[in-house]
Amino acid sequence: MNDRVRSAELFAASREVIPGGVNSPVRSFRSVGGTPPFIARGEGAYLYDVDGNRYIDYFLSWGPLVLGHAHPEVVEALREAVLRGTSYGAPTELELELAREVIDFYPGLEMIRMVNSGTEATMSALRVARAATGRPKVVKFIGNYHGHHDSLLVRAGSGAMDMGVPDSPGVAPGAARDTLSLPYNDLDAVREAFRQHGDQIAAVIVEPVAGNMGLVLPRPGFLEGLRSITREHGALLVFDEVLCGFRLPGGSAAAHFGIDPDLVTLGKVIGGGLPVGAYGGKRRYMELVAPAGPVYQAGTLSGNPLAMTAGLTQLRILRRPGVMAEIERKTARLVEGLNALLSRRGLPYRAQGIGSLWGLFFSAEPVYDYESALKSDTRLFARFFHALLRRGVYIAPSQFESGFMSLAHTDADLDATLEAAGDALDEAL
Ligand code: PLP
Repeated sequence: MNDRVRSAELFAASREVIPGGVNSPVRSFRSVGGTPPFIARGEGAYLYDVDGNRYIDYFLSWGPLVLGHAHPEVVEALREAVLRGTSYGAPTELELELAREVIDFYPGLEMIRMVNSGTEATMSALRVARAATGRPKVVKFIGNYHGHHDSLLVRAGSGAMDMGVPDSPGVAPGAARDTLSLPYNDLDAVREAFRQHGDQIAAVIVEPVAGNMGLVLPRPGFLEGLRSITREHGALLVFDEVLCGFRLPGGSAAAHFGIDPDLVTLGKVIGGGLPVGAYGGKRRYMELVAPAGPVYQAGTLSGNPLAMTAGLTQLRILRRPGVMAEIERKTARLVEGLNALLSRRGLPYRAQGIGSLWGLFFSAEPVYDYESALKSDTRLFARFFHALLRRGVYIAPSQFESGFMSLAHTDADLDATLEAAGDALDEAL
């Protein structure tokens, strides 16, 4: 492994002109320390940095690249598409095709609107929920992350939790006043919130499988409970599947857990690595959105033809027989391998996976919410992270993020990863 000399130069220069040197906080390695590799290119399961190092990539642009980097069919489709122009600001057949593809994939989804990010998707979904119910309040869960718009940047996970700024300066108190933050997996807290504010709550928004405080699964009955409590009180249930969508067995939390949310937010995988988000749900709610209805939401680049092309191509490949199962098999193999390494060393930590998501907490106790996630040994994580990176394996640079898997990872990559992980553990402990 070469020293990251060029990366260090670029990082220093970037810090002069870009806050913290990055365009999204967690990329800066703030929680693990050190210099992030500056990336020159990605191919398949690998990232290559400007110093000539190769890494097996397990954060995959934070989830979108379910087929790996620069999948040849996605690249070819984009190559053809770009010759037809980069943006029209007028409707295209591609938007219809992607809308149909997603609706076909996601049980119960009736209408969908494309936006450019997950943040826009959740912001817009809540606007619809408030309009549909005429109520102001929203319930979210501590450690769930739904993007960086004001009303949801309250005890968020991901970078916000990571950096210990759950309530960001610059958010007007009024913007967050109607957000109720409750512990994840705690139905009693939800019942109590509805007992006190039931007639004021427009929606409960939840990451059905939480991926922004590390990977945390819903306890049996939690999502079912949310469904019945919201129904009972006339509030909408919003599944934020920006991270877990198309990465769970069956393709979605709705399919996997057999629950029918009112609204859904999606992103990442449906854009194939280009900037896309989407929100959708039942027709009676989505027909409130302008110009069909009065709820305003718009976007200059929404439905962008390149983004639609990448998303559509990726989703169609993902739906080929056996493709999702193969990515899930690899995830299970990695998790099993990591657990064998941990047990062999007599360590109390466990990796877990679901679909093509995986995670490993350096905590001896089970993790089921934000509080329990925070008990992890973040210093040990940081040492493990750097020891792995030096061995050419790049996982998300924070204990409080998920791991991802792609179709491009080979069994040889997994073997190399597990060998590196064993050595990295020995070094880090
Ligand atoms: N919702 C969830 C569950 C996410 O994981 C994220 C981003 O990681 C978002 C929303 C925000 O998406 P974006 O970063 O595209 O704005």
